[in-house]
Amino acid sequence: MHCEEAVPEAPGFDTPPGDWQQQLREVIRDPAALCRHLGLDPERVSAATRGHELFPVRVPLAYLSRIRRGDPDDPLLRQVLPLRAEGHAVQGFIDDPLEERDHTPKPGLIHKYPGRALLIASPTCAINCRYCFRRHFPYADNAPSMREWDRTLDYLREDTSIQEAILSGGDPLASPDRRLAVLVERLDAIPHLKRLRIHTRLPVVIPDRVDDALLEWLEGTRLQTVVVLHINHAQEIDEAVVTACARLKTAGVTLLNQSVLLRGVNDDAKTLAALSERLFEAGILPYYLHVLDPVSGAAHFDVPDAEARRLVETLRQRLAGFLMPRLVREVPGEQSKTPL
Ligand SMILES: *Cc1c(COP(=O)(O)O)cnc(C)c1O
Ligand code: SF4
Repeated sequence: MHCEEAVPEAPGFDTPPGDWQQQLREVIRDPAALCRHLGLDPERVSAATRGHELFPVRVPLAYLSRIRRGDPDDPLLRQVLPLRAEGHAVQGFIDDPLEERDHTPKPGLIHKYPGRALLIASPTCAINCRYCFRRHFPYADNAPSMREWDRTLDYLREDTSIQEAILSGGDPLASPDRRLAVLVERLDAIPHLKRLRIHTRLPVVIPDRVDDALLEWLEGTRLQTVVVLHINHAQEIDEAVVTACARLKTAGVTLLNQSVLLRGVNDDAKTLAALSERLFEAGILPYYLHVLDPVSGAAHFDVPDAEARRLVETLRQRLAGFLMPRLVREVPGEQSKTPL
């Protein structure tokens, strides 16, 4: 503990109050409040300020409840509290490392890989992850209205080689269910689409997001549904997350996970093995382990390729084959993720 002052508990610190929409409104948006809740040294607040100005702090209370109090090195805290290093320019770390601005044929659509098209179904996220490769993406310009969606969907209707629609963001599940239900109904009506994939961190950071209204449209579509969660550490999977995953499985969803390899969060074989084991306990299969995209402000999370490969080799000796994530990088211009 670094802080002498008595810390008043946030209301509902352990069990967040209200439905997911309320929890989304009541996220912590201020580094000082974050440090106060966790009993951290106020010095951390001044260090966080520059990073907060570049990409605001945003932490749901349900996620906060899994962070150890008084531990500045907590692997969940490291994902959400800016460090002074975020303000440092580092060569090779840039604003749009994936060159996504060049692959948006319609507002809200990114088509880079054959057979799959990605829709930006929500401009925002429930949590702001400090290493995020989209921290500088012009979300607001790419958040279509319902009317604009129709033009975007025309692109999918016309390209019969697209079999899979991927909802991404931001976090697609930050959108209200009525909006998502309409979107999925329209996708459902495109005959050549087979699969609906949803890339989301919401069931992890606000497990109450997986409610009846969500399950209703997920169960209602003829499309096969895949949810790719984003979990970087076993400590992120508490009982509420396990319950949310079980509900998704009941709705017939295939659950996969992608992680980002992050210095100071999960950059050792023991941590990664524990993550895979814990994922499987929750009914989730490891899918990708991404190396960090070189986005400005995140260089302090970087793990060099040679070290990443060694880590994964060690992991391979410990884990069942189906618990091994694929180590990949996203290279602009490639037709798929690139294995390392
Ligand atoms: C990662 C990604 C996909 C999905 O790739 P998979 O290898 O099928 O998981 C699709 N479109 C874009 C733009 C992506 O970045
Ligand atoms: S949830 Fe995903 S998209 Fe949103 S900030 Fe975190 S890493 Fe980025």
